[in-house]
Amino acid sequence: MGTRILVASRNPKKLAELRRVLDENRIEGLELVSLADLPPFSEAPETGATFEENALAKARDGARETGLPCVADDSGLEVDALRGMPGVLSARWSGRHGADDANNELLLAQLRDVPDERRGAQFVSACALVVPGGAETVVRGEWRGTIRREPAGDRGFGYDPLFQPDGETRTSAQLAPEEKDAQSHRGRALRQLLPALTELV
Ligand code: IMP
Repeated sequence: MGTRILVASRNPKKLAELRRVLDENRIEGLELVSLADLPPFSEAPETGATFEENALAKARDGARETGLPCVADDSGLEVDALRGMPGVLSARWSGRHGADDANNELLLAQLRDVPDERRGAQFVSACALVVPGGAETVVRGEWRGTIRREPAGDRGFGYDPLFQPDGETRTSAQLAPEEKDAQSHRGRALRQLLPALTELV
């Protein structure tokens, strides 16, 4: 029990990630509530031009609809050879929302003739915390790496099987969850939210 905070996501992996970051930093007294635990409310489509705009819009919606402080994340993959795309369109790159395998196949096909030295990319996460009638905080985390030529690993989600973080020989789909949090874009962003979250306890 404690202060209830809405995490504006239905992705149990994102909720678990925030729980781990709070626990590792010994922040107690926050009870995380997921969208799946609440009666449904209409959610605006993600139409922002930036991760920050989308994260803030989601957090504002959640705070307004529930009266709870709300954390929301918007994230994606920026590929250098695609001039930063798929970016905010990452989840629906192949045309359907959340079709991970199709997204990965399309990305591999697009990069087939791109040589190894130009296969750089970064995962980006913007996280927003909106307190009803109070402060709005938006932070950003980035994670640099390269895009492999074949998928490897079955942990994680999305583009993880194709993303080899800088300094690693494995893909992010081959890292244990705690290893991924320590380096990942979302881990870095969530840790920057901790001071604002601590004030809510
Ligand atoms: P969101 O859920 O609207 O933020 O969409 C994020 C999309 O970006 C996901 O569908 C994935 O395709 C991609 N993405 C974001 N973070 C990660 C990650 O940690 N691993 C793999 N893919 C990610």
